[in-house]
Amino acid sequence: MECFHEKFAVQLNDTHPAIAVAELMRLLIDEYVLPWDQAWSITTRTFAYTNHTLLPEALECWPLALFARVLPRHLEIIYEINARFLDQVRIHFFGDEERISRLSLIDERGERYVRMAHLACVGSHAINGVADLHSELLKQDVLHDFHALWPGRFQNKTNGVTPRRWMVLANPRLTQLITAAIGADWIQDLDQLHRLEPLAGDAGFRQQWADIKRANKQDFATLAQASTGLLIDPDSLFDVQVKRIHEYKRQHLNILHVIALYHRLKSSPNLAMTPRTFIFGGKAAPGYWLAKLIIKLINSVGDVINRDSTIRNQLKVVYLPNFNVRNGQRVYPAADLSEQISTAGKEASGTGNMKFTMNGALTIGTLDGANVEIRQQVGADNFFLFGLDTDQAAALWQSGYRPLDCCESDDELRDVIDLIRNGFFSRGDTELFRPLLNNLLHHDPYLVLRDFRSYSACQQEVGAQYADSNQWVRKSVLNSARSGLFSSDRTIREYCRDIWQASAVPIRLLSQEEVTGGFMQ
Ligand SMILES: *Cc1c(COP(=O)(O)O)cnc(C)c1O
Repeated sequence: MECFHEKFAVQLNDTHPAIAVAELMRLLIDEYVLPWDQAWSITTRTFAYTNHTLLPEALECWPLALFARVLPRHLEIIYEINARFLDQVRIHFFGDEERISRLSLIDERGERYVRMAHLACVGSHAINGVADLHSELLKQDVLHDFHALWPGRFQNKTNGVTPRRWMVLANPRLTQLITAAIGADWIQDLDQLHRLEPLAGDAGFRQQWADIKRANKQDFATLAQASTGLLIDPDSLFDVQVKRIHEYKRQHLNILHVIALYHRLKSSPNLAMTPRTFIFGGKAAPGYWLAKLIIKLINSVGDVINRDSTIRNQLKVVYLPNFNVRNGQRVYPAADLSEQISTAGKEASGTGNMKFTMNGALTIGTLDGANVEIRQQVGADNFFLFGLDTDQAAALWQSGYRPLDCCESDDELRDVIDLIRNGFFSRGDTELFRPLLNNLLHHDPYLVLRDFRSYSACQQEVGAQYADSNQWVRKSVLNSARSGLFSSDRTIREYCRDIWQASAVPIRLLSQEEVTGGFMQ
């Protein structure tokens, strides 16, 4: 048991399994009868903690009374961990009682709670965020006191996604084209996609690339028609936002822009506009009432726009039901534009953003999560950037943000809000969306109204660039060619090297017979 940590590494994937710190201590002390100090040394060398969110309300706190009833021995151990930890804190931050109560594993400000993220930090030898920006913000904000205490424990491990699922399985046409161009090694060494870069300048290759996107869009149109009954045009720009529904992800910013385009078409019937299909997908948590109201608004806007023949099919809005990994495999390869529009400083990393980029979508996005690194990789010219950054957002809150001012200075935004307010999308019901509008006009915690004008202007540029298909396809190829960093192979290698101290060992791959034979048994 003395060597446990040399043979086992346990990664706490978010705070959800943080109780494992107390459980390993219980096993070592109660079952294996090791002294506390030795058990603690083994425990902290075994665990490492990955944080996945910057939203403070998402950091788990378990009520002490519940803990005492269900896991009394674990609570005793947590008290002992806390006592020894706070002794250390007292020495490090001499006389700083505020700091001690902020760092304590027990929140004693009102009803008492166990702070599970603190248990994860104290019990781990490494703490990491999942994108460069996220890891910096952890040190500055969410885990500031822990960083002041143990700066050496903090690391970054930028997320990745597996190209075997998100390219080879999801996009066989593109896989075949890429393999014909550069061989098959890219599937296990995604940096090799860089070898596509010269082909972005080859008109024949671009045509094949564009034909594949068109075929993927046609496949998606068939799927969308089967699940929604709606006919969509595969030659329109597929503008896609698929992800869980949350205010910080700002699906409502997207739908406000859809309404603005519709309002423009109704005001100027002959307006030239790039035809677009807006594709939404995603689920809300069962108790997240406002998120469900956002879903309702998107569907209500779609019901009006999709039926209005006067706009000559220039806008369509699809809400794909049951967005999950399987449906995702049909969506990401069919996208022209990837919507990554969270309020700066709120999205830890995002991984949908990476799946889109690998499959040749261009991104419209804020400087948030891994968008920052995607933009660095693909180049600023090949990425549509808008909105406040984290420092500007913080400064705005400092100086006092009044969302109503955004409407006063923006006639179009006011018209958009008025259409919703007057019940245009709810058959005259002026109550249905009132809570959403009140939230935006009087609180707007995610700066939707503040970023609306910047977003709209950026979308105007997207529409103009899509009309130049040679340039668009060139940029599409470059996005995919420069997405190699976002392979989860790279991520896992970094965890092995910097956290787990695990080195590669040769393995023998099973033959096809062994795989299917084993499966059939
Ligand atoms: C990738 C993926 C996500 C994560 O999407 P984000 O845009 O990064 O929030 C969520 N749900 C499904 C089904 C996915 O495939």
